[in-house]
Amino acid sequence: MSANSPAPARRRSRRQETRLWRVPVVRVERVTPRLARVTVRDDSLAELAGAGTDQHVMIYLYPGDVVLPEPLTLESARGLWSQVRPMTRTYTVRRHDPVTNEVDFDFVLHGDSGPASAWAERVGVGDELIFVGPSPAYQPDPAADWYLLAGDETALPAIASILRVLPEDKRALAFVEIADAAEEQPVPGITWLHRGGVPAGECTVLVDTIRAAELPGGLPEVWMAGERAAMLAVRAHLLDERGFPRQRVRPTTYWRLGESGN
Ligand SMILES: Cc1cc2nc3c(=O)[nH]c(=O)nc-3n(C[C@H](O)[C@H](O)[C@H](O)COP(=O)(O)OP(=O)(O)OC[C@H]3O[C@@H](n4cnc5c(N)ncnc54)[C@H](O)[C@@H]3O)c2cc1C
Repeated sequence: MSANSPAPARRRSRRQETRLWRVPVVRVERVTPRLARVTVRDDSLAELAGAGTDQHVMIYLYPGDVVLPEPLTLESARGLWSQVRPMTRTYTVRRHDPVTNEVDFDFVLHGDSGPASAWAERVGVGDELIFVGPSPAYQPDPAADWYLLAGDETALPAIASILRVLPEDKRALAFVEIADAAEEQPVPGITWLHRGGVPAGECTVLVDTIRAAELPGGLPEVWMAGERAAMLAVRAHLLDERGFPRQRVRPTTYWRLGESGN
């Protein structure tokens, strides 16, 4: 979902085969007070093609009392649509281990008003996770002189992955907005920005910090994702005040304040 008017196509890895996965939860970890890491493991995940960086999936949330067809595939799930449609939400693959066939997803816990956040609050070992994907992933442009990554905690799984693949000889700045110091994770290379009590989606710390930052010269590439208004503010600053080339700034709306779904 782009936060701006039509942007040039992103460099993306080739589209992987999209299929539906119905896999057991084997671990749930509260990584920080407001972040649940849900790990699934299944032999079928050996076939989940790992494209890296911001690769994401669509999580299917069914009402608890629904009887799902066996096997549950994209086709059989669609066949059920006339009776029940799942609620869908998008989440990034935080880690995919092709040896253990484990996949981690990091859920920001933002309260019970969101079905995905509420599910992650109460999910336990042995529950199942149903998702469709994966999406193709962003591939950084090796021609860039430096990289700017920015977002809130929902973008942290993607930013952590992108940081791992950036050319080592190029400079990268990564700004991630979080509630407070308790939400910091041991990801090297990130400048943490605390909201200081301001609610998520109402805080301007991301654009304020980038506006005040001394940014390198040369050809930039900007990847950013988070709440829509924050993305628009950073984009406007980079284009209008910094004069960045439009096609080098790639904002993605991950969520919208006051609106459900994505
Ligand atoms: C490509 C992509 C990848 C994403 N990857 C991740 C990821 O790895 N981890 C992750 O946590 N999120 C990720 N998101 C964001 C996530 O999909 C949204 O936050 C989604 O709205 C959460 O669904 P929900 O059911 O919990 O809340 P919704 O039903 O969508 O929203 C309910 C209410 O909560 C508010 N809300 C939604 N998200 C947040 C939030 N983060 N903080 C505060 N308030 C919020 C809404 O404005 C609304 O008022 C991703 C989004 C996209 C598009």
